[in-house]
Amino acid sequence: MMGDRDYRSTIKNAVDSIGRELEIEINSGDFKTIHLQEVVQCLRRSYYDRTDSKEIERRGFNDLLSGLLRKLEYGSVAKEFAIDDIKLKGQADMLVDDIIVLFRPSQGITESPLAQDLLYLNSCLWIYDKTDGVIIYITNNREEFTFSLTRDKKMFEEIIRRVRVFCDLLNEQKTPILEPSANCADCQYYQRCFIGKKNSKQLSLAEMLGLAKEN
Ligand code: SF4
Repeated sequence: MMGDRDYRSTIKNAVDSIGRELEIEINSGDFKTIHLQEVVQCLRRSYYDRTDSKEIERRGFNDLLSGLLRKLEYGSVAKEFAIDDIKLKGQADMLVDDIIVLFRPSQGITESPLAQDLLYLNSCLWIYDKTDGVIIYITNNREEFTFSLTRDKKMFEEIIRRVRVFCDLLNEQKTPILEPSANCADCQYYQRCFIGKKNSKQLSLAEMLGLAKEN
């Protein structure tokens, strides 16, 4: 008999606990070691993760796949790439026959990969000094679809630029600017970025437009 236990919250708690175990370990005070995950996503989110973090809401076991594979180290251990005195640290999910493989969850089949997954894969190709890689998306219906990539220098130079910017902002204790994207909807800092503090003063439309009355 199933009884009336709240299985949904039991499963959510299980997913959250495993997710915490699988999270990339980041030493928030070590500004000279930047993790690849931090610079392919919104820098503001990564900054909050280091300085005033809030737990992310995980949707299901599908979200844990990449972390599980990283933990099992299927042919892939974390590697570092030196950018002056900064270390950029990244880890592929798998390394098979010299091909970097990433697994990502997806809500459905799409025509192109997510930009942040492409940036992650391309950076792994440089960090591991490999030429080709693939991203395998797995949907909730257990369908899978794949995109392949040959490494691109310009794309990696953009990541190097973001590593330097993020490192400078951490050192200067400056919050990065908003990087609005589709990811904001699932971001745990959405309220902080777009709604603000509850007790903040409400601005009238005239004030927002700089048309406040002069006495
Ligand atoms: S809500 Fe958007 S802009 Fe704000 S931290 Fe999250 S991803 Fe970045």
